[in-house]
Amino acid sequence: MTTVNDEIRALCQEMQCMARRVVASDLVLGPGGNISARWNDWMIITASGYSFETLTEEHFTGIDIVSGRQVFGHLKPSSETPTHLACYRNRPDIRFVLHTHPPYTTAVGTTLGEIPPMVAEFPVIVPRLPVLGYVTPTTTEMANAVVECLRDADCVVLGNHGMVAVGETLEDAYNRTLVTEESARIYVYSRIVGEPKPMTPEQIERLNAALSAREEVGGVATR
Ligand SMILES: [Zn+2]
Repeated sequence: MTTVNDEIRALCQEMQCMARRVVASDLVLGPGGNISARWNDWMIITASGYSFETLTEEHFTGIDIVSGRQVFGHLKPSSETPTHLACYRNRPDIRFVLHTHPPYTTAVGTTLGEIPPMVAEFPVIVPRLPVLGYVTPTTTEMANAVVECLRDADCVVLGNHGMVAVGETLEDAYNRTLVTEESARIYVYSRIVGEPKPMTPEQIERLNAALSAREEVGGVATR
């Protein structure tokens, strides 16, 4: 086992901090969910069976991305290690993987096979969101299904299970998860009061055009 250095320690602290935000946002319950980060050729991932709110530096393990061999930590790595490893092996651009169990996203995604765009941020932050049917958690089958979806998307809904979001930053992965959950939540509330009215493709197109125009003038809103 290799000694943990300051950079790895900082990444663990960043993930602990995020884990608490994930719990506060109701995106996981109990020991569900896991977080990982890429550090050089290694993946640093939460250990199996610990709640996000109780994580300390001891609850992280290091895995060599190519060989899959554990390089540090005394605990058993997360049971979703195969999926995290597959993400890093297939997406060299990403540095973080966040797996959560957001209840509204899981309910709506499993039932409808999609998350309708109910809030304007959703199609902007999550332009593509594949929804998988049920795949047995922890398996290579799940890892393969997830990376297939992540070829042209940065997050995926897992039927009867939850969500995987990746990003260059942990904040990106978190925001993708959060805005998806928000859209799913608004959809459920809308169902309670009547017939939901998701944004239309034309509305989304106009929004994207407005945002592009805004960027072109250096962040000054256009009329
Ligand atoms: Zn899970």
